[in-house]
Amino acid sequence: MFSTGAGSAWLTKYVVDKYGKENTIILITDTKWEDEDNYRFMKEVADYIGIEITEKSDGRTPEDIFRKDLYFGNFGTAPCSKELKMKQTFLYIQELIEQGILPILYFGIDYKEARRAPRLAYNYKHNVDVFEDGVELRFPLIAEIDGEPVNGKQLIHNRDFLNSDKMPKVYNKEIYESLESQGATICTANPKHEIENNWGIKLPRMYSAVEEAAKDKSNMKANELLEKGVKGFSHANCGGICVKGGMGHYSVLYAVWEDRYLKMEKLEREINDAQIAKNGRRYTILSKLIPTGELDEKGKEKKKKVPYSLEEYRLEVLEGDINSNVEVEENTIACECVF
Ligand code: SF4
Repeated sequence: MFSTGAGSAWLTKYVVDKYGKENTIILITDTKWEDEDNYRFMKEVADYIGIEITEKSDGRTPEDIFRKDLYFGNFGTAPCSKELKMKQTFLYIQELIEQGILPILYFGIDYKEARRAPRLAYNYKHNVDVFEDGVELRFPLIAEIDGEPVNGKQLIHNRDFLNSDKMPKVYNKEIYESLESQGATICTANPKHEIENNWGIKLPRMYSAVEEAAKDKSNMKANELLEKGVKGFSHANCGGICVKGGMGHYSVLYAVWEDRYLKMEKLEREINDAQIAKNGRRYTILSKLIPTGELDEKGKEKKKKVPYSLEEYRLEVLEGDINSNVEVEENTIACECVF
């Protein structure tokens, strides 16, 4: 599963080296929203490994999906990811099964983000209904057990989360303990370093977009971010306009590609207007916490999450007083498709 980012690029080589080109399909489900440099990267990775990339897409972009559904999704679900990534993958799996091939899917989620892997394994078990047990997922960048990449079941080996009615909440700690008790070998690879230094391939420019923008000393936002150690986007997908990005993600987008930020702001406004006209509901990509006036059992004021538009965030925080009374609902996690 190649998303055109660094982790999944590393993964392609790992799988080809371990199982052979003849047994490997490098799949990309293209959203048509990737940054142009990601396509350059994708091609160079394919040439380096010496294998063609299989592309599956239905030609639509996330914008097409948002306009159809009048909805951006949220942290748990993003309709663009479901329609353009997962569904395309499910359809392709179905095609392979009809050809007598039962694939194993490999994802480039790393050890630090391990808590995200069980949800993927769960989704592929429950949504690929073309055969009884779903499909097996493996995560080489997390760990290996007995020389094979850890699979969904092994992530939490003593809790049958794959068969629960609802995906339970999982923290890294539980996965780390489960892996340790199974004698797993934790992956210590550094994909970005290996790709640049050993493969000689320049990473997608999104990873260093802040550094690049900060060369212009008049770009105060980029320079502020760089001073805080932010060199670029943490995930190089959908050209930085991912609906699963949080405030931090959109502050990077504003600093490096203000035009893309404003385009997304406009799209959000149009979809919101249509949604409000339809059923009075307001959906935004970001959210913020506001006090409710009620106290919890510890005597602390309770807060609730409310919609917070990109326009409000820009005016109040990015162009306004960053320490205004907006309390950020932090969410630095992008979507399942980023791996
Ligand atoms: S990277 Fe973000 S915007 Fe792109 S398809 Fe995934 S969830 Fe949607």
